[in-house]
Parts: sequence; C-alpha cells; structure tokens
Amino acid sequence: MAKVLTSRSENYAQWYNDLVIKADLAENSPVRGCMIIKPYGYAIWEKIQAQLDKMFKDTGHQNAYFPLLIPKSFLSKEADHVEGFAKECAVVTHYRLKNDPNGKGVIVDPDAKLEEELIIRPTSETIIWSTYKNWIQSYRDLPILCNQWANVMRWEMRTRLFLRTAEFLWQEGHTAHATKEEALIETKQMVDIYGEFAEKWMSVPVLKGHKTESERFAGALDTYCIEALMQDGKALQAGTSHFLGQNFAKAFDVKFTNKEGKEDYVWATSWGVSTRLMGALVMAHSDDNGLVLPPKLAPIQVVIVPIYRKAEELEKIAEKINPIVANLKAKGISVKFDDSDNRKPGWKFAEYELKGVPVRLAIGARDLENGTIELARRDTLTKETVSIDGVEDVIENLMEEIQNSIFQKAFDFRAEKTTKVDTYEEFKELLESKTGFFLAHWDGTAATEEKIQTETKATIRCIPFESDGEEGVCMVTGKPSKQRVVFAKSY
Ligand code: AMP
Repeated sequence: MAKVLTSRSENYAQWYNDLVIKADLAENSPVRGCMIIKPYGYAIWEKIQAQLDKMFKDTGHQNAYFPLLIPKSFLSKEADHVEGFAKECAVVTHYRLKNDPNGKGVIVDPDAKLEEELIIRPTSETIIWSTYKNWIQSYRDLPILCNQWANVMRWEMRTRLFLRTAEFLWQEGHTAHATKEEALIETKQMVDIYGEFAEKWMSVPVLKGHKTESERFAGALDTYCIEALMQDGKALQAGTSHFLGQNFAKAFDVKFTNKEGKEDYVWATSWGVSTRLMGALVMAHSDDNGLVLPPKLAPIQVVIVPIYRKAEELEKIAEKINPIVANLKAKGISVKFDDSDNRKPGWKFAEYELKGVPVRLAIGARDLENGTIELARRDTLTKETVSIDGVEDVIENLMEEIQNSIFQKAFDFRAEKTTKVDTYEEFKELLESKTGFFLAHWDGTAATEEKIQTETKATIRCIPFESDGEEGVCMVTGKPSKQRVVFAKSY
C-alpha cells in the first residue's frame, strides 16, 4: 500500500507532519517536544553537518566540546541573556532517585538535592566564556575560533518536528577577538557561510540581513540572520550569527593585554544553525508525493529498480547494472541497486518518490534488448528512455541540473510571493488574503514594530544587508525610513 500524504492545499501543517513521519525522517518521542531522528533523517543531517563542518574548518575554525550542564548562577551573569532564556530552561535539582515508600516506582530522593542547581544548556555562551577566561591573557591568545556540535534544550511550548523542538541538535560557534572590527567581520563571514550553504547545498534561496532589536539574540548587540520562504508563504529563520560585543567578556571578566600593553575586554561572536534546517529543506521543495531532495544532500542520489519475473532475468539485468553502479560510485554518486524481491517495482517507485531520491532508473527485459533504461526525475516527475551507454555521464550532469532547477523553482516562487507595499491599509488588506514577503518602509522603532505585529501577526523578518537604496516614509507613522524591511508571517 502506498503511504498517502495529506495534500499541501488541504492542510499544509498536516502534510508536513505526515511527510516527516512517513518519509522516515523523525517521529515524536514520549517526552513532548522532543523527537527521535530516524536513520534516513539522520543521514540527511549528517550530510548537512559534513558540509558545514568543512566550511567552518576551511575558514579556520576548530571543533571543541563543552558540558551539557551549566551552573545556574552562570546564566544570570549576563542580564539580557538570562532574561531571554530563563523561561525556557530545564533545571536539574537532584542527582538520585529512590524507591517510593508507597510502592509506586521511584521518586526523587530528597536527600540528594544539589547544592547548586544546574541548567541544561539552552546555548553555551556562559559556560564557554567562563572557560575562555582561563584561555585568554594576551592578544597572542586571540582569536579563538571554536565550534561545537551538540544538543541543546529550550522548553518550547509550541513544538513541531525539526522546526521547533525542545531538544534540538545544532552547531554553535563561539569566537573571541581582540578588536570590534574583527568580531564584526567574523559575524558577517558566518552568516555568509550559512547563506551559501542554504543556497548551494539546500537549494533554498535566503535573504540576509539584521534582526530588529526586539528579535535579537538575548545578550547580542546585533543579530544577522538568513530568512527563507516556505511553500505556504510563511518565513523561516534558518540561521543566525550574533555580534556579542564585549557583553560576555564583561560578564565573565575576560580581559586581555593588547599589543600596546593595555588591558581590554575581549570581543565575541556566536552563530548557529540547527536541525531546523531539516524542516526548511522539507518545506521548501517537497510535494504531495513526498520529499524532493537536492542531490547534494540526498542520502541516496540514484536508485535503480530492476523489473523482472524470473531469477535469470534479474541476473542479466544485474550483469548490465553492476558496472554502472561501480562507475557512478567512482564519480562520487551514491547509488542503490534495489534488487530486493520482497517488494514489487510499483511499491519501490512510490517509496523512493516519498523518500525524495533525485533520480530513479528502471530497467526490464525489453530495455536490455534495446540497450535502453528508463530515467525518472523526482523533482519534475518526468520520465524518459535513454541509452544505457553513457548513462553515467547523463546522471552526473543531471545531478547538477536538478540541484540548480530546484533552487530556481524556489527562487521564482519567492519572487512571485514578494510584494512591495506602500500604505498600511494595503498592507493589512493584503495580509488577510496573501502570504509571502512584504517589503515596506518602517520608522525603526520597536513601538511601530509591535503595533504591526499585534494588528497583523506579521513580524519584521530582517533588515536586508543589501538595501535597494530606496528611501521612503514609514507606512504606519509617516516618519522617514532609509530602506524597506521584510515583513512576513513566520514559523
Ligand atoms: P539562536 O541561538 O536563538 O540564535 O538560535 C540558533 C539557531 O537555532 C537558529 O538557526 C534557530 O533557527 C535555531 N533554533 C532556535 N530555536 C530552535 C528550536 N526550538 N528548534 C530548532 N531550532 C531552533
């Protein structure tokens, strides 16, 4: 039986949830808001990790690991930081259980109360800056360019698989610099890396810009972000890079002696992307038949399904296919020859379609006679019969073509869903019937931003780095505005 998905037009949220589960990416765990990432989902995450890790290392970063548990007192050292994260913190208070005297399983042992309560990291600035204090004395110790791959926990109230979970996997970069300029360059470099990764690897076009003050990371002086548009026209913040100024250095007393022999506080950045990227990948490209994966992140890039009745037929097909499999592997293409006999070809077709395998080849007895093979593209759902000779080169080119064409499709969709708006009347009216990015002028105040959010549910997704240079007046207050900002309803 084919696993049927709810269609996107019927119920987009349900479609997403169905797809994540039926495509074997993840499932809900017994603890609300946490998820089990299944092997197929994890294989995609590993590809994401591998590429990002390479990009981080190519720009001079090293991986390290800091502990899961943080003394509670650390969190309160930076005032904005604690304010932002306090409401989402899971706290460890005891270190032992004991048998319930009433015979009902186990209870927390009241005698095993921790002297200092610990929090499960919601992010690691505090533990890392308390460590950097010991690592940094002089300008010679700088910069420190560390990244860690880890899990974090934020007690989110409204959760959705991958997009917003209570525990999620991510990487967090934490860098320390001698100068403000250097820290700002790092902050920008990392958001650029995220942008490049999103566009070149995930085939998801993103806008890059500043967050407004009210959307900034707790403890940052500036937050840069990448924003993507999902197929339902809602925005998704897909990655952030923070300029932390000297806030954490001051909170943890991290000073260094500069070249002139003077003491100064160290400058900091932090940056992260999470398993939310998996959600972005699914939501940006997939269709009512299942996942559509960009070849660069697909665990299986090509699947070959033999169509046969008798064992001798399969043998002949295998004889023809085995060298093709070897040639594709030699080209670095991951290929699966699915000759399992416990499923019919029709079932396999539907399954690999659901799993988003970019290219499917099917070959039967008649193809063998004709020297042909059927080639199906997952992204366009088109099929053609091609010559079996040289099919490896055809596929190699196709990988690139599919990667680009998925990007182009998402890019065109975003262009179509981006609207310039000049008056608040029009803005409010449009937001009732339309989704997408809305480019409008804003006076730069939190009060106006809040009014717009309360009245329309749209938020400022970012203030683009690349302004169109078009000055104007705020659509709400008529005060001057230097550039349009991007509004949208978001995840
Ligand atoms: P932040 O530290 O808040 O800037 O978040 C860093 C990255 O983690 C961003 O790319 C967010 O999109 C992502 N993120 C934040 N909260 C969650 C969550 N609850 N689930 C999944 N990803 C998240």
